[in-house]
Amino acid sequence: MQAVVRPFHRFSTLFVSNVYLLDGGRGDRWLIDCGHWTERYQLLAELRRTGLRPSELTGLLLTHRHSDHAGNAAFLKREFGLKVYAHRADAEVMAGSAKRVPLGTRGSLLERTLGHVENRWPARVTVDGALEEGQQIAGLEVHHVPGHTEGSVFYRHPATGCLLTGDTLLTARPPLTIIKDIVPPYDAYSLDLARAHQSLERFHRAGWSYEHVLAGHGKPLTNDARRRVLDALSRLGLPASTAA
Ligand SMILES: [Zn+2]
Repeated sequence: MQAVVRPFHRFSTLFVSNVYLLDGGRGDRWLIDCGHWTERYQLLAELRRTGLRPSELTGLLLTHRHSDHAGNAAFLKREFGLKVYAHRADAEVMAGSAKRVPLGTRGSLLERTLGHVENRWPARVTVDGALEEGQQIAGLEVHHVPGHTEGSVFYRHPATGCLLTGDTLLTARPPLTIIKDIVPPYDAYSLDLARAHQSLERFHRAGWSYEHVLAGHGKPLTNDARRRVLDALSRLGLPASTAA
């Protein structure tokens, strides 16, 4: 486990995607995303190293419904009674009450294969709380940024300037995420790339400040993150470049 900006810690032994612990003390301990089910062992080992029992966690906040982020949600809920929260639109898909749009129709062979893996083994869970734009939970603001999935969100933590971005803003290039870079959502895994770009633009145009990005893939981007993100989006010719 690695302290990013207190109270946020990153579980550094998970390879597929990032899991963060917001440790605000007793009664205020939250996981942000929970990794893929193939990394359940690492997730539980990381939790053990914190000295916390999973049942001592207050809840799990999902950035979006994809199985590499929500893959252990049902397990944590079933085994430890952990309460699960996600945006309403993704919650409906995970519960099976809204249509699941399949991935795997675009990109390279590897990307299409990973898309089919997601289609075959999606995260399924019934959430305890469906989140909405503008809601506050765990000291975090919920910002709905649809496009990568229907219910993707940013969680902004005004007290520290941390922005948890899931897959809507990444700090490494997918799918292998070995190359460090600031990039928008990934086409092959996104429901509607243009809508995701619009969400990024809308968020920045609204003037929301942040200092650090804790993305779903890639290492944390600490200090002056907003300027660095806008520079990177500008180089890619994305509309967020016009934001102040
Ligand atoms: Zn995703």
